[in-house]
Amino acid sequence: MSLKQLIRPLVPESIKAWRQQRLVVENLLAATKPLHPRSCPVCGYQGFFSHFGRPPRLDAQCPSCGCLERHRLFWLWFSSHSRPLEGPLLHFAPEPPLEKKFRQIYKDYSTASISNNADLRLDIEAIDLPAGSVNTVICNHVLEHVADSMALKEIYRVLSDTGRLVASVPIIEGWERTYEDEGITDSAAREVHFGQSDHVRYYGRDFRDRLRAAGFNTIEEVTAEGRSVVEYGLLPGDKIFLCSKG
Ligand SMILES: [Zn+2]
Repeated sequence: MSLKQLIRPLVPESIKAWRQQRLVVENLLAATKPLHPRSCPVCGYQGFFSHFGRPPRLDAQCPSCGCLERHRLFWLWFSSHSRPLEGPLLHFAPEPPLEKKFRQIYKDYSTASISNNADLRLDIEAIDLPAGSVNTVICNHVLEHVADSMALKEIYRVLSDTGRLVASVPIIEGWERTYEDEGITDSAAREVHFGQSDHVRYYGRDFRDRLRAAGFNTIEEVTAEGRSVVEYGLLPGDKIFLCSKG
C-alpha cells in the first residue's frame, strides 16, 4: 500500500467516502451470510455452506468438498440406489467433487473436455469415440454452452442401446420455450441475457422436447423438493434428467 493510500482515510472528505464504501461492503457481507446450517451428502460436512455464483446464491457451496447444489442432488439420488449407472462412464466437463467419487467406484470412468483438463480431449459436438462405446454419459451444465442438437445427437450415438445420459441444465420451468438468440454473441450481453458470459441460452420446459428429438424416448426426472432442499442446501425444483433410448 502506498503512502497516499495510507493517508487517504485521514482526509475528512475521504473519510466520508470510505465510510460509505464500508457500509456497502458490510451490507454485501450481511446479504451473503449463510442462512441455515446444512449437511453435505457428498463429503459428510455439517455446518454453513458458502455463497457461490454471480449474483451470489446463498448456502450454495460446501466449504469442505466444494460441491454445489446440483452435485448434492445428484449424489443423493446416486447413493440411494445400488450402482444405478453402468460403466464405461464418460463425464463431460469434470466436476471435482463427483469425479473423486466416481474414480473410487468405477475403473472404467473417464472425464472429457474440449480443453486439456480431462482424461480425454473431446468435442461434445463431434465426439471422437465409436458408436455404442459407453454406457453412461454425464453432462451437467454443459448443454447451455454448446450447439445442443449436435451434442445430444453425438451423445446418443456413443451410448449403447441400454446406456443412459445424466444431464442437468439451467432451466426456467415457468417458460414454455427456451430463450436463445444467435445474434447475441458478446460475452457481456450473454451474461445479461443467459446468466453467464459463455452461455448461449436459458432452457424452458421444452428442454425435454430437445432430449426426445435426439432419440431419448424415456426421461426420468430427479427433483430437489421437500425437506431435502433445507437439509442439504438444494435449489428448490432443481432437476436431473436421466435419459434412455428405450
Ligand atoms: Zn461436501
